[in-house]
Amino acid sequence: MAGKAPKLLIIEDEPDMALGLRDNFEFEGYTVSTASDGEQGLRKALDEQPDVILLDLMLPRKSGLEVCRELRSRGVATPIVMLTARSQEADIVAGLETGADDYVTKPFRIGELSARVKAQLRRAAQDEDAGEYEFGRMRLDFRHCRAWRGGAAIELSMKEFEILRYFVRRRGEVVTRDELLERVWDMPNYPLTRTVDNHIAKLRQKIEDEPASPRWIVTVHRAGYKFLG
Ligand code: CA
Repeated sequence: MAGKAPKLLIIEDEPDMALGLRDNFEFEGYTVSTASDGEQGLRKALDEQPDVILLDLMLPRKSGLEVCRELRSRGVATPIVMLTARSQEADIVAGLETGADDYVTKPFRIGELSARVKAQLRRAAQDEDAGEYEFGRMRLDFRHCRAWRGGAAIELSMKEFEILRYFVRRRGEVVTRDELLERVWDMPNYPLTRTVDNHIAKLRQKIEDEPASPRWIVTVHRAGYKFLG
């Protein structure tokens, strides 16, 4: 696998299964992290921002379905491959409805799982190359500078596209006002960081359901902003 090692998060409560999967994927060149219950899995998925997630369906503390639903409702688009038992057909359908991308039924051949994980990574990489990005009800087409909210086209300025493009690249990380001035405005010594705040406020009006209590572009006290899409 070329380039940086892809990050895989395995959320699986059965220790032998988790260990076996970890060994296999580490051998294949992934950086692997594991979680043994749904709550820990959700936390790690949010904190560590893996490139792909293997999610067991039956988990203590929070089921795989709940984890999946919660991630998607927070706008996390990371590919999710569900691990299910053959007796859980109904849950498989539910899983796909909550936003899982694929599933394998236990017992599975590791080669099959590995191929499916790779396919998800390829698809995610293509989405990124295509310059399209989705979060919540928003869809962005960076290449053609078009945006939609809940399916309806909305107007964003070039600056707003640039801000969002930078946020997407740094999603989940704290971005300072100075950094935005330097990267988006190309003026590192521009004295008025207030400019940034004004633009963010306008952008929130366009992309947030409740601009006063934003969900996608949050303010990090004394630091800057964080994009959670
Ligand atoms: Ca389980």
